[in-house]
Amino acid sequence: METFDVIVIGGGMMGAPCARHLAEAGHSVALVAPPEPPVKTEWQGPFGSHYDAARITRRVAADADWSLLSTRSIARYRDLEARAGRSIFHETGALMAGPEEGPMATFTASFRAVARDLSPQPVELGACETWEDLGLALPSESVATYEADLAGWMDPRAMRDAQIALAGQAGATRFAQAAETRTGGRVTLTDGTTIEAAQVVVATGPHAAMGGLLPRVPRMKVWARTIAFARLSEETGAALADMPSVIFVPEGWNHDLYVLPPVRYPDGHLYLKIGGQVDSPRITSPAEMRAWFHGTGDADVGARLLRELANLLPGTSFEATHTEPCAVVWTDTGFPYIERIDATCTALIGGNGAAAKCGDELGRLGAIVATGGALDGEGYAQDFGGVWQDAATAAE
Ligand SMILES: Cc1cc2nc3c(=O)[nH]c(=O)nc-3n(C[C@H](O)[C@H](O)[C@H](O)COP(=O)(O)OP(=O)(O)OC[C@H]3O[C@@H](n4cnc5c(N)ncnc54)[C@H](O)[C@@H]3O)c2cc1C
Repeated sequence: METFDVIVIGGGMMGAPCARHLAEAGHSVALVAPPEPPVKTEWQGPFGSHYDAARITRRVAADADWSLLSTRSIARYRDLEARAGRSIFHETGALMAGPEEGPMATFTASFRAVARDLSPQPVELGACETWEDLGLALPSESVATYEADLAGWMDPRAMRDAQIALAGQAGATRFAQAAETRTGGRVTLTDGTTIEAAQVVVATGPHAAMGGLLPRVPRMKVWARTIAFARLSEETGAALADMPSVIFVPEGWNHDLYVLPPVRYPDGHLYLKIGGQVDSPRITSPAEMRAWFHGTGDADVGARLLRELANLLPGTSFEATHTEPCAVVWTDTGFPYIERIDATCTALIGGNGAAAKCGDELGRLGAIVATGGALDGEGYAQDFGGVWQDAATAAE
């Protein structure tokens, strides 16, 4: 039986960088990382939240800790690209906008406060300037921060490939399959192989609360999300070439939406993408996860999102539109759980819809905890402690 210092289960946005940081620090590492499903509708699982060509990245956030997680990760993107020979970061700029009044006023005030402490400091724009300078039609009462640099979008597939490749270059062993069971430091894989380590990091994304690999059940909710895509002609794509990533609150909405600028997808076409929900169905079992990922998302949600995309970009024609499913994990704290649960197991879970851009830093923090270190000297107000179900809360 092969033995390692650390086994990392889950090669997604947090697990893959965790394995890289551990391997580059000289530990012997096994990374248990199933591939992205070749055909999602035929895949029996597990699933991940990184099956896409683009995720927004930005330093501005409604919370200083999320901003710091991203700022530190963004500062390492170019090094990862250079060493792994992959194009990850597209510095198109990012806009974050919200109303000064109403139910979302706190959101706006929070991200403006965080932006004021950043260096270089993003500029503030009103709705008129956003239309004149960027061609984006925001609700008239909006205030926005605009980061021209160190923001835009990152390619989660390229990021994952880079992290796994660099972990391998540093000596890590990848097992391209799922883990079925864990007993202490002993992990059994789908093909029956058993491997062992002093420490096991569980970074299984949307499966964390339902996979049985953690010694305790984390309090977290998994939401089924729909994203909508608008295909563009090359001409329209060129006209929007300077478009930033956008987070905004449409007129009358009580939550924000996100929009990715034109991105070329594996089918060769350019697409805009829009997403953002607060009221989607919950996913509570592997069977529900499979059913959701085998579908195409919710068409009504998609139609509503595409209407808001058309409002943001008046006069822009879409050649075609479609929707896709995904899943996000919200924790009770609003932050990832990065915690050593017992002598052989560390949890690195709970992206809260925001961990693709800052997965590298979350992976680094996971590596510190997995090797017995503490996070209180890392500059965060948050302790990343987990909240775990007990008998009383198990049914919720
Ligand atoms: C629609 C959508 C849009 C998003 N947009 C953004 C954005 O713009 N910016 C941003 O920063 N974030 C965004 N996110 C959030 C981001 O993608 C997640 O926060 C991030 O992927 C979470 O990282 P993770 O490592 O916890 O999980 P994942 O990235 O999901 O990785 C988990 C991995 O664990 C593996 N796994 C599960 N079970 C097992 C097992 N038993 N054995 C082995 N492996 C297993 C899975 O295959 C997967 O590869 C978005 C998410 C969604 C769904």
